[in-house]
Amino acid sequence: MKIINPATEEVIREIEQDNKASIDAKLKALRAGQKVWAKKSVRTRLKAIEAFGKLVIENKDELAQILTQETGKPITQSRNEISGSLNRISHLSKNAEKWLQPEEFGMEGDTLELLYHEPLGVIANISAWNFPYNVGYNVFLYALVAGNSVLYKPSEYATLTGLKFKELLHRAGVPENVFDIAIGSGEVGQTLLESDLDGYFFTGSHKTGLHIAKNVAHKMVPVQLELGGKDPLYIMDDVGDVKKWAINAAEGAFYNAGQSCCAVERIYVHAKIYDEFVKYFVEEVKNYQIGNPEKADTFIGPVTREAQLEVILDQIEDAKKKGAEVILGGKGMDKPGYYMEPTVVTQTTHEMKIMMEESFGPIIGIQAVGSDEEAIRLMLDTPYGLTASVFSEDEQRAKTVLDQMNVGTCYWNCCDRVSPNVPWSGRKNSGMGHTLSYMGIRAFTQPKAYHLRG
Ligand code: NDP
Repeated sequence: MKIINPATEEVIREIEQDNKASIDAKLKALRAGQKVWAKKSVRTRLKAIEAFGKLVIENKDELAQILTQETGKPITQSRNEISGSLNRISHLSKNAEKWLQPEEFGMEGDTLELLYHEPLGVIANISAWNFPYNVGYNVFLYALVAGNSVLYKPSEYATLTGLKFKELLHRAGVPENVFDIAIGSGEVGQTLLESDLDGYFFTGSHKTGLHIAKNVAHKMVPVQLELGGKDPLYIMDDVGDVKKWAINAAEGAFYNAGQSCCAVERIYVHAKIYDEFVKYFVEEVKNYQIGNPEKADTFIGPVTREAQLEVILDQIEDAKKKGAEVILGGKGMDKPGYYMEPTVVTQTTHEMKIMMEESFGPIIGIQAVGSDEEAIRLMLDTPYGLTASVFSEDEQRAKTVLDQMNVGTCYWNCCDRVSPNVPWSGRKNSGMGHTLSYMGIRAFTQPKAYHLRG
């Protein structure tokens, strides 16, 4: 398998893919390792995870470089992701023992009732490339702490980062037969679906998620899907400082070249402030440094996957044909690498793909609305349900809109944000199940109830 730098289109490394026989051997070892790992105390397992966190920080510069080279993520954003994701470890350190300890419900007549949270066993973590630290940790760290062993399949576009996770986890004290990785493309993922695993934890597109859910349904094991979104942001007419909120909205849409599951994917602006908002929004996007992701001041690098350029250009063409106006950008960039001009499209409608289908790139549609009711109707008009945001000075007015959203996460005066304190989950085509918070560790356990009479 060739690892390509999306900023230069050069091959960085060639790596041997796994195959059915090597996956079988890894799973056999993981099954044996899990039995021993599960018997260790939660504190012992946490110690290894904490040591991993220290190693990550000691090696941060090298790790950021690797992430930038294989995904095209601007180096400052790579560093931010690596540092930011450590909050999962401190949160686990503080809470995991409490969350995993057996619960006693007292006597019911002459019977003592208890609940144990047992690990699932050997789980598959099939992951995405866009935030490999954040979305990887949300699964494999929580699963390990809960006593599972993990076969981690990084996206082929984040393989080198996946190999580093393996090296550092082993150096930190997670046994080799408790965490391993499956190297390769979608075919290797498919091999995992056909193998004997006790749970499938997937982060990626709706299309692959649906395929996975259908293919493993007969196994009757937990399946969790963290999928894409078409996340709306509504800017109310009472925001006051329109410039400030336009800058915020642009960052929510264009951070990591728009390749975040919870990126702002469509914007509705109250007609009273629409022109002013669009002016400041475009001004801000024009100021972004675009280009070499290895430079510290670059804000937008290339998109990671060449194939995504076609999706984005198709959305632009479709919007133009249906009457939208491209007021900034609109084309690929004439240089090596998978670069796309940051693109702002106005006069959009819900007949257009740009307002209905995940873009996952540096492109945004902006639409004027005449009232909160119209905004609510448009925000709800989506097959996805990941996040929704409202910018407003009036908390109650914003809450009235957010309360009606069918999403896992609501934001008032912020967006594109994840915290370990609260669960991360999608509804409808954005997935099922939860990561983070106490719900995110329970996802890697199965309850066993004891009724003890004696
Ligand atoms: P994909 O669905 O293309 O791939 C995800 C993973 O599935 C990759 O490891 C991929 O391997 C693997 N895969 C592909 N085919 C199969 C198969 N037949 N069986 C098993 N595994 C398979 O998604 P992306 O990696 O492109 O990620 C982007 C998507 O992820 C976006 O939609 C984004 O919104 C979503 N996402 C959701 C998050 C959330 O928390 N809700 C967080 C981050 C991203 P390979 O890459 O090697 O082909």
